[in-house]
Amino acid sequence: MFDLNKILRDNIRNIKPYSSARDEYTGKEGVFLDANENPIGSVSGDYNRYPDPLQKALKARIGEIKGVETSHIFLGNGSDEPIDLLIRAVCNPGEDNVVILPPTYGMYRVSADINDVAVKEVPLTKQYDIDVNAVLRAVDENTKIIFLCSPNNPTGNSLSSENILYLIRKFNGLVVLDEAYIDFVPNKSFMRVLPRYPNLVILQTFSKAWGWAALRLGMAFASEEIIDVLNKIKPPYNINEATQRIALEGLKQVGKKEEMVETILAERKNLRGALNMLRCVEQVFPSDANFLLVKVAEPRKMYNYLVSKQLIVRDRSTVALCEGCLRITVGTRAENGALITAMKNYSF
Ligand SMILES: *Cc1c(COP(=O)(O)O)cnc(C)c1O
Repeated sequence: MFDLNKILRDNIRNIKPYSSARDEYTGKEGVFLDANENPIGSVSGDYNRYPDPLQKALKARIGEIKGVETSHIFLGNGSDEPIDLLIRAVCNPGEDNVVILPPTYGMYRVSADINDVAVKEVPLTKQYDIDVNAVLRAVDENTKIIFLCSPNNPTGNSLSSENILYLIRKFNGLVVLDEAYIDFVPNKSFMRVLPRYPNLVILQTFSKAWGWAALRLGMAFASEEIIDVLNKIKPPYNINEATQRIALEGLKQVGKKEEMVETILAERKNLRGALNMLRCVEQVFPSDANFLLVKVAEPRKMYNYLVSKQLIVRDRSTVALCEGCLRITVGTRAENGALITAMKNYSF
């Protein structure tokens, strides 16, 4: 049985969080002389007041879009913030460990390393899916989190739902399911089953499909108990006011996001077709995301050649199981066209 209290670090279980001025008095009306803000105004813009520490208005809107109660939503300065907070909440430095399934997103290891938390690597299979038995063999009494990324970065495929569910059911620690690319394949989201699994945390982000990478806004969805812990240990004003305002306004245009997703999916199909016609391309892997993992004949040379043409892709060829591969983000039609033209002219 999963018991959050059992896996929380002792210092976190008993923590008394920072109480900000905006936590102690939450009314909207009044003369505010409690937060040492500038009463006259801002040098520019209208930003002299501290933002809502719990982002209530923004969460209400996100809750409507995602179909969840606001008590199940945590907002972070990018989804990288909840990755770090979750590790800090449950992993004792120098003692506990997390499991990751490479090749995968680099931040799980970086956050664990920063926190002096050991990382157990259980590689994906050759088909880039979960080796559930190997994962369960790797788990020990100090394993607190399994990180899963679906669709996975950098491979692009979604992990099998059965395997994800199996791990959620078998593992008594947290399963963090990173759905950064889920807007490109929404029917594979685990959001609908979230209420059934108290050990499941789903991460999503506004950095990809919504086009707000620069705003730094990520989401974690989980049980109220887990969200409460994250709220207790986060920096008090982790989502700045400009981000909250821009996102709240932009979230009125869900249709625009969906339109962009449709365009990107159509361009992904075109790009895949064009890449498959090239002599230098050995394989284009299946993708549910906004990028393609592409195996080419001379990856490092190709990468340098493309850079010389000011076409920047990601060289993943030294990553285990990604030998020979470049990760190519789907661009606009013109950008993809320029890439294909350049690759066509590449001479061995
Ligand atoms: C891009 C990406 C993120 C997003 O991180 P942000 O901090 O929200 O920008 C998270 N996970 C994966 C796997 C990603 O590729």
